[in-house]
Amino acid sequence: MAGPIIQCENVTKRFGGVTAVDDVSLTIAQGEFFALLGPSGCGKTTLLRMLAGLEVPDSGRILIDGRDMAGIPANRRPVNMVFQSYAVFPHMNVADNVGYGLKVEGIAASERRARVADALALVQLGGLEARMPDQLSGGQRQRVALARALIKRPLVLLLDEPLSALDAKLREQMRSELAQLQHKVGISFVFVTHDQDEALAMAGRCAVMDKGKLEQVAAPADLYERPASRFVADFIGSVNLFQGTPRLESGRVILATTELGDVICAGAAPSPLPSQAWAALRPEKMSLSDSGEGIPGTLRHIAYLGRESLYEVELPDGKRIKIRRPSGDAIRDFSAGDNVQVSWPDGAAVLLLS
Ligand code: ATP
Repeated sequence: MAGPIIQCENVTKRFGGVTAVDDVSLTIAQGEFFALLGPSGCGKTTLLRMLAGLEVPDSGRILIDGRDMAGIPANRRPVNMVFQSYAVFPHMNVADNVGYGLKVEGIAASERRARVADALALVQLGGLEARMPDQLSGGQRQRVALARALIKRPLVLLLDEPLSALDAKLREQMRSELAQLQHKVGISFVFVTHDQDEALAMAGRCAVMDKGKLEQVAAPADLYERPASRFVADFIGSVNLFQGTPRLESGRVILATTELGDVICAGAAPSPLPSQAWAALRPEKMSLSDSGEGIPGTLRHIAYLGRESLYEVELPDGKRIKIRRPSGDAIRDFSAGDNVQVSWPDGAAVLLLS
């Protein structure tokens, strides 16, 4: 991995009685596309704003490119920020918007023109220099904001929910454009989102936050396949959770007395074994049939979702679980009220300790 560009060391920020960011330590590498992800109020925006220099940590250190940022104001930091509502100046044309920062720095008009043209080419807006913001689409305005942030050649681009103001279709298109842009410019992008799909689709690594704390930092596939806690398992996608008592059997962890009976869990055994733990099973890793081995249950609801169907099954003790299968995959058409057998392959259940 490339060297670190951002290092947070035990960073804490309080607002009155609220600890918005709680003892966060985190390293982001040069050239990474990194997402800060979590529910509303988890502290992700506050963390981003501290990187930008818009908030000051109460304790801890932030280093950017190896330099301690304490006392360094926002405009002297080697970062630039793109805000949620694409903040473009309505009275300036595209070229003046994008070149604004260079003008403030006193850079000569000829160099400005060349750099504006480069920046606009990067975001695929070449030729639109003379347009006014109200003659642009939402996606184009967001690209103007991106060009304006990139033109100053920051080491890190900070993005606060950059796609949230766009409609669903455009948002999806901009996801791949942003990822390609980041690849092209090669600098680190750190973006905040509460949308797990967006984070998983774009980021190389994600930090999942809850109540100011970092729950897990990992690549999208690891977050999904090996969540560190019930919070992460539930926040990243959908999950069935079963509580039980772990015990060791020939080196494997068996979670006993769950609503599914004994569940063999994947992964290494923790030491010492806690007295309680959870098994996490993704809905798409489970299947249902009308015969054979499995845990008996009653099918309560079927939601046809096009490519997939979502089955809700009630277990004997009343717990309801979700099973997702490709539509047409079932051996026969099930109906609500059917008795079914629920099963899952070895290795599908993940042990969670918290
Ligand atoms: P959202 O997605 O809703 O923006 P977030 O995860 O970005 O949420 P933050 O905006 O960082 O969360 O807020 C974290 C906590 O700190 C919240 O409880 C919030 O109310 C509080 N907070 C943030 N900024 C301030 C402020 N300037 N004054 C007081 N409290 C604040």
